[in-house]
Amino acid sequence: MFRIAFRALVLASIVPLTFGLADGAEKLKALIVDGQNNHDWKATTPVLKSCLESSGLFTVAVATSPPAGQDLRNFHPSFSDYRVVISNYNGDRWSKPAEQALIDYVRGGGGLVIVHAANNSFGDWPEYNAMIGLGGWGGRNEKSGPYVRFIDGKFVRDASPGGGGSHGSQHDFQVVVRDGEHPITKDMPPAWLHVKDELYDRLRGPAENMTILATSYSDPKQGGAGYHEPMIFTVDFGKGRVFHTPMGHGVEAMRCAGFQTTLIRGAEWAATGKVTTPIPADFPTAEKTSSRR
Ligand code: ZN
Repeated sequence: MFRIAFRALVLASIVPLTFGLADGAEKLKALIVDGQNNHDWKATTPVLKSCLESSGLFTVAVATSPPAGQDLRNFHPSFSDYRVVISNYNGDRWSKPAEQALIDYVRGGGGLVIVHAANNSFGDWPEYNAMIGLGGWGGRNEKSGPYVRFIDGKFVRDASPGGGGSHGSQHDFQVVVRDGEHPITKDMPPAWLHVKDELYDRLRGPAENMTILATSYSDPKQGGAGYHEPMIFTVDFGKGRVFHTPMGHGVEAMRCAGFQTTLIRGAEWAATGKVTTPIPADFPTAEKTSSRR
């Protein structure tokens, strides 16, 4: 009897608080990491930040590392203060404690989002590559893991030798949903036209515990590898959730309503395991891109 009464008391005190949070009093804390990238991170981080904030779901902080070649010992973001960490970083290895903190954070249930060239980073950091599933450049080759392509209705791992990461010329390309039941892709049109971007192909990595949700065809006419390449995917790492998109070379590509919706949904899923963000009215169709200005 005492136990039941106690539980009722606890419920009575917790339930109103929970409803209060659902009203939007408490947003999900997100952290963007940048500071080094062969891409224009100074221009793209504000786009990522305002996109996430525009959803009303997130408060967004930014942790900027010192420039390439400088001492990173004091660069140590407090990952565990956040529900999701978004990497816009492609650069020097971090200190051992900072790298271990990211591993512990994701393994313990933290969310991680990988955008475009963030998957070029840390080719020689095994746990990072396990977290991101696939990556390009950064010395990656057959020792990094297989290529993964969608062939004849299924995903095929190809361990043949060769470098990791390439792309043809920038162009509009279709993103084709291969798993429409996942919260991130649910209710998306089966195919949608992404605004002019680099289409990463020949990515390779451990590709373990990975769920590929959408692909894009790397057309040889555009200089691509000629395969259906993973374009939206997730990785389970310990208790943590990783959302990864190779899209997002620059500001123009990030203004795509399809990219932005995918980013918001992917970040929400990485943070909570759920998606509450609907597909917006300005979402691209199979034939027509949609940019936000
Ligand atoms: Zn790029």
